[in-house]
Amino acid sequence: MNIHEYQAKELLAKFGVPVPAGYPAMSVEEAVEASKKLPGPLYVVKAQIHAGGRGKGKFKELGPDAKGGVRLAKTEEEVRAAAQDMLGNTLVTVQTGEHGKQVNRLYVTDGVDIAKEFYLAVLVDRASGRPAFVVSTEGGMDIETVAHDTPEKIHTFDVDPATGFMPHHGRAVANALGLKGDLAKQAQKVAAKVYDAFIGTDAAQIEINPLAVTEDDKLMVLDAKVGFDSNAGFRHKDLAELRDETEEDPQELEASKYDLAYIKLDGNIGCMVNGAGLAMATMDIIKLNGEFPANFLDVGGGANKEKVTAAFKIILSDPAVKGILVNIFGGIMRCDIIAEGIVAAAKEVNLSVPLVVRLEGTNVDQGKEILANSGLAIVPANDLGDAARKIVAEVRKAA
Ligand code: ADP
Ligand code: MG
Repeated sequence: MNIHEYQAKELLAKFGVPVPAGYPAMSVEEAVEASKKLPGPLYVVKAQIHAGGRGKGKFKELGPDAKGGVRLAKTEEEVRAAAQDMLGNTLVTVQTGEHGKQVNRLYVTDGVDIAKEFYLAVLVDRASGRPAFVVSTEGGMDIETVAHDTPEKIHTFDVDPATGFMPHHGRAVANALGLKGDLAKQAQKVAAKVYDAFIGTDAAQIEINPLAVTEDDKLMVLDAKVGFDSNAGFRHKDLAELRDETEEDPQELEASKYDLAYIKLDGNIGCMVNGAGLAMATMDIIKLNGEFPANFLDVGGGANKEKVTAAFKIILSDPAVKGILVNIFGGIMRCDIIAEGIVAAAKEVNLSVPLVVRLEGTNVDQGKEILANSGLAIVPANDLGDAARKIVAEVRKAA
């Protein structure tokens, strides 16, 4: 689960990380009110969407010459104008995709005189299986570009979770940033507190870009992206209220309501499978046969009619889907029950694309019979390879 910048900053501030003062705003009036509570003379009005690159982003409605989603303002009028420009409009950045994201919330924050911009992140390093720091003097810009063009400018080191954050980790961060004296001390402190926040919230990542050095030599977090490990959600009920469902993929959101593990992909063959391993194998074999899966979908162990129907609806709501492959192994769940679910669901959603079904396991013969007698144009398949070849052929035939 990801959260907005203003929520991330409020959270980091609770852990003692220095952030500029600021207030969220849902309307133009709230934005103006927020600026009145700040000391001035410089304010920054920032679009709150779950995507980076806002500063260099463009609003669809405003044309190519208009400013992006992070604007400096010197007066109440400029705050008002910036808020009016952004709220309700669609911001397109390198991270949003071409459709962009509608801006429904703003953050009005203290303008800071920046001397330097650094990058600092804590994330889970899958290779070492440990929390890791990623630090660079090249902050403010797109870190992927830095990683690509000048990889030597990115420093990475991990932390043994058993011993936790040690003073030498703090020194390593300060060194990587080339800081000395008081700023080095500040960097050590910031690193320790960001690590505390990372562990304390079961975060998956905390990315600070930029971590700024101000003209009066203070370290400040000017932008923060925080995502949590959903598997640890039960330990952090208080964080659940930070969720903004309007930022999530509507199909993935719908799937989560039915406890379906659904991830949208770019291909044209919808997949409905039980078990994550079988789902991965199904996607692989579709690719092996020359087409691409439109989604990953694990309906789980107890796939009943309601779940199967919901899964069909979610798959079909993607206009790219030109055919569906159902691949179910009936272990605890019997194939005849599953077949009844598929038939009922296919009738209910008025299935309009080819459907290939491969069933295996308990009561498979009864299951196949139900599919054959359903009156629906279901193409039966005998094994995984057969199923993949058939759905690829069907999709190509229809194209
Ligand atoms: P994004 O990464 O989505 O573009 P940022 O919050 O990083 O958004 O803002 C982009 C740039 O705007 C920053 O790199 C920084 O130079 C400037 N900026 C952001 N917040 C402030 C602030 N409070 N004061 C001064 N400049 C800021
Ligand atoms: Mg940024």
